[in-house]
Amino acid sequence: MRYAKVVVGLPVEGPFDYFIPPEFNQHIKVGGRVKVEFGHKKVPGYAVGLAAKTCIKNPKAILQVIDDAVLLDRRMLWLTKELSNYYCCSWGQAIETALPPALRTTKKIALNEKKSCDKKDGSCEIILLHDLDGNSRWDVYIQQLRQALDNNQTAILIFSETHSLPKAKAVIEKNLNITPAVLYRNTPGELKEWLSIKEGRTNIVLGLRSAIFAPLSNLGLIIIDQEDDPVYKQDQVPHYHVREIAMVRAKKEKAKLILGSSHPSLESYYLAKAGRIKYTLLPRKRLLPQIKLVSTGSEYAARKKKEVILSPYLLDALRSVLDNKAKTLLFLNRRGFASRAVCRHCNKIFKCPRCSINLVYHFNQAELSCHYCNFKMPAPAICPDCNSDYIRYLGTGAERLESEIARLFPQAKIKRVDNITDLKDSQADVFIATSLITKATDLNFDLIGVLSVDEALNYIDFRAPEKAFRNLSGLLGMSEKTMVIQTRLAGHHCFQALLNKDSDFFYKEELRQRRQLSFPPYSHLAYVILRGRKEARVKDVSQTLFARLNSECPKGIKILSLNPAQPQKLRGNFYWRILISGRSTKNITRFLKISLKGYSHSGIIVTVDIDPI
Ligand SMILES: [Zn+2]
Ligand SMILES: [Zn+2]
Repeated sequence: MRYAKVVVGLPVEGPFDYFIPPEFNQHIKVGGRVKVEFGHKKVPGYAVGLAAKTCIKNPKAILQVIDDAVLLDRRMLWLTKELSNYYCCSWGQAIETALPPALRTTKKIALNEKKSCDKKDGSCEIILLHDLDGNSRWDVYIQQLRQALDNNQTAILIFSETHSLPKAKAVIEKNLNITPAVLYRNTPGELKEWLSIKEGRTNIVLGLRSAIFAPLSNLGLIIIDQEDDPVYKQDQVPHYHVREIAMVRAKKEKAKLILGSSHPSLESYYLAKAGRIKYTLLPRKRLLPQIKLVSTGSEYAARKKKEVILSPYLLDALRSVLDNKAKTLLFLNRRGFASRAVCRHCNKIFKCPRCSINLVYHFNQAELSCHYCNFKMPAPAICPDCNSDYIRYLGTGAERLESEIARLFPQAKIKRVDNITDLKDSQADVFIATSLITKATDLNFDLIGVLSVDEALNYIDFRAPEKAFRNLSGLLGMSEKTMVIQTRLAGHHCFQALLNKDSDFFYKEELRQRRQLSFPPYSHLAYVILRGRKEARVKDVSQTLFARLNSECPKGIKILSLNPAQPQKLRGNFYWRILISGRSTKNITRFLKISLKGYSHSGIIVTVDIDPI
């Protein structure tokens, strides 16, 4: 073979043909790294094939063969190619997503290659494990892991939170008497751990999202815990979702895939109800709290649009719980003291200079900060526009709630939870938390007060009810006594499902609405995102591209809309989005890869997000 087919980790399709100098002929391997000149830069590339002929005139020569060993075996090459076909990125970008960052270089590594021997029959099985209580599924995990080990197979367990990893490791060590490898991206030990997995020295791998690419052979089992967690979708290009990659990998490698959750994603629930994956329900054993919906609608009107923080009903409930020396959780999904600072004289709202976002007031630091880009400034005493000192802070955040409770109940010990670790051994009467608390386990409160979820429900996002339901279901498991929810939308099916303790009701109603609107899971969506520093230019280029995609759009794909993103400005960049829908993501990706090929406007960056969440 005289030519190598090479891909690089840039947003350019390939593979590109390179000439193999004779001295490298013995060393080059498909699935290994090579150093090549691309454009005018020397970059690491990945050999994905070899050929005797090329139709390129005078191809460049490979500069160096980095690995004697195969970093990406046949299956991993296939998986990364699938990723690039599904998520509209180049094969090289997909490969770099799958490899530890330390391998995306031209640095040599020592790898004792092991011949992998996959002798597996049977077929893939995908199971949605719906764990209503949220603490029964570990028994199933252990039993399934044991079975995989008994069959000399390997397993991957994926978690959404770093704090779950040490706990999971301890449970596995105790029950199975085996030490799992922990793959954790961008840590000093990552490459060593990756190599030890590649060399076959470990059977079980624990990790976060990127562990789905663990180079295990003879894979028998993949478990994704809390499969509905949005962190499983990567927020950078390629915007892959770990569940999708796990399904593709499990099918190819004939492994079992378990999707565990106490409140499954609508996508998985839909697949289960349609009979396309299996469904196992772990029934409820513990008691659920009494739920009381308090409508804040009329009070809201009576107070002339002044926000109701604590309704009289919730105040009474809180008082009696405090009298009994019992524990309360108040849920308010807003950090800071006030959600906006306003000059009452000229109506100026203080916004982040880099983002189109209101700055949040933090009382203790006496500063305004942007929760998107971390911009901070001292809280102003005088309005810069009109020199008035009539600046007010509106919209209750967790900090203001804390001071309000302290004022009303001076004896109560209050703890604001800004971090999951804040919960450890903390003694308090009243805990104040944002949605972060739903990631904690083994909590038990006598009273849970949900102060505001309406904002979440009103948000212009068809996934908003699902997100609100996930938060509320998470809270539901944290009390066996009382839960009080303040809302102006008491009739919403999200609350009705909670009141009736019937999550199926929520899923069915939500699916009915999504079907009517042809939203996922009944279709696939994609965003083409354009960003740049100059607002007018981003808008112009977006409009031209929108028109062009419309004119080229094939059957089965619809170009739905062009809009500024929400928020429109982030970290100094302006964002516009073209929304596309289609029956199959691969068709959307094929269309976009052709349409966007060579598409370039200076100062504008175009990216694609398939199945946005
Ligand atoms: Zn002013
Ligand atoms: Zn900002």
